[in-house]
Amino acid sequence: NSDIALFRAKGAGRNNFQFFTQEMNTNAHNRLELEVALRSALADNQFRLHYQPQFDLRSGKLLGFEALLRWQHPVRGLIPPLEFIPIAEINGLIVPIGTWVLNEACRQAKEWQTRGITHAMVAVNLSAVQIRQANIVSIVKQALQASKLEAKYLELELTESLLLENVGSVLLQLHQLKEIGVTLSIDDFGTGYSSLAYLKRFPIDTLKIDKSFVLNLTEDADSRAIALAIVSMAHSLRLKVIAEGVEDASQAKILAEMGCDEAQGYWYARPMPGDQVAGWLQRNPEPATLLANRA
Ligand code: C2E
Ligand code: MG
Ligand code: MG
Ligand code: MG
Repeated sequence: NSDIALFRAKGAGRNNFQFFTQEMNTNAHNRLELEVALRSALADNQFRLHYQPQFDLRSGKLLGFEALLRWQHPVRGLIPPLEFIPIAEINGLIVPIGTWVLNEACRQAKEWQTRGITHAMVAVNLSAVQIRQANIVSIVKQALQASKLEAKYLELELTESLLLENVGSVLLQLHQLKEIGVTLSIDDFGTGYSSLAYLKRFPIDTLKIDKSFVLNLTEDADSRAIALAIVSMAHSLRLKVIAEGVEDASQAKILAEMGCDEAQGYWYARPMPGDQVAGWLQRNPEPATLLANRA
């Protein structure tokens, strides 16, 4: 089963399981327990979205926010997504959870806009399972209709592995999503199989340079070479590039010099609950100034 293989690969590489260890995840009994807990999490409204700002690297302007899922567990506290999403991808619960994420992110973006953050986009992570198993096009349409958010303010982050699936239906769905007017980006770019030949066939707007390259930009010439290659290739394909995981001024400067278009990371802001965004904006009324002072 390719989903399980994918999950194992992710778990082994990222080593991110703390409460739900890999051992627990692969154990059928515990997996069932986690499935039951995830179902009640959905029913009991235990999921939360945190939002991380994204900026234009040249102007310093705020562009929008990436929505990042957390599970507010009544006993265990706030559980990060990599501890439960891989399991939710195996048991299919990522489909209803992902639908909740889409609706909540669109609702929040519309609320920001009515409160005056007029051009803020929201970026939502989509699992490959949502594209394969669900009618993602109508789910996205419904989330936009219910929230009254204009499609151009919604960005969908896809995984690189999706591009490897030589399935006509994936391509068709991505084209239909583009027709609605949403933006599509490829997350964690450079960590998967990165078939550049496939890239052109997909209606993609943006590549996100994976944070593993950004992390080592200052010290590691190879990471710099990879980041620069991604930027120049993206630009020659008329795609935008965003860097994730920017943690210091030196990384931001190198990325800006490379011509990278956008950035997000702890150096600018950590992901925060949606109701803290207005206050954060008040404390940082001019992100352009904020960035200029820091650069
Ligand atoms: P991602 O989409 O690549 O998200 C970026 C991750 O990097 C987030 O972790 C974010 O908090 C973290 N990050 C941001 N800035 C920095 C930085 O400067 N340094 C470092 N070291 N990390 C930074 P998070 O929130 O734990 O999310 C992890 C992954 O979980 C996401 O990676 C995404 O693949 C997945 N995920 C999150 N929310 C959803 C969702 O709603 N649906 C799906 N399918 N996957 C999601
Ligand atoms: Mg993402
Ligand atoms: Mg964008
Ligand atoms: Mg990423």
